[in-house]
Amino acid sequence: MREFKAVVLGAGGVGKSALTVRFVQDVFVETYDPTIEEQYRRAMEVDGQLYSLEVLDTAGAEQFTALNEVYIKSGHGFILVFSLTQETSLREVENLRQQIYRVKGANSNIPIVVVGTKMDLTNEREVHRSTTQQLATRWELPFYETSAKRNWHISEVFEDLVRQMRDR
Ligand code: GDP
Ligand code: MG
Repeated sequence: MREFKAVVLGAGGVGKSALTVRFVQDVFVETYDPTIEEQYRRAMEVDGQLYSLEVLDTAGAEQFTALNEVYIKSGHGFILVFSLTQETSLREVENLRQQIYRVKGANSNIPIVVVGTKMDLTNEREVHRSTTQQLATRWELPFYETSAKRNWHISEVFEDLVRQMRDR
């Protein structure tokens, strides 16, 4: 079985752990210790083939960019997470994206998926679909809008990333 390692990165509180735990254990964690960094493993089937996926749910503060570099070196693919309810969290995704290209080399075809979380919180939404569509075009990266609470589009995120890592 082929093994891949995915790293989940993004600002604090955007829902990295909720997304990861929903995917790995299929439950929604209402409160998860923001300082806990955890590595999970799950087998998943994509296009009739079984893969072993290791998922690192990071918890480092944004300012520790040296630590990010360690994560980036260790990962085959990246899930960059922001909250649809917090426009500023998109800026951290832009920083991380640039950092990944710096560490891995801009012309290598690095598997990345960008994820907007908390889609269920319609009334608190700050990031409009037009914004993410523009960024998706400019960055040439797939974007997904998800809800870990409602289990919307979670598996699509991981399947997309596995396909990218597989086809590299
Ligand atoms: P992290 O710091 O990025 O790991 O963020 P967490 O996963 O700990 O989530 C931060 C807060 O947002 C928690 O209170 C979660 O319950 C909440 N949260 C995460 N994902 C969702 C979601 O899809 N919908 C809603 N309504 N709340 C969410
Ligand atoms: Mg967390």
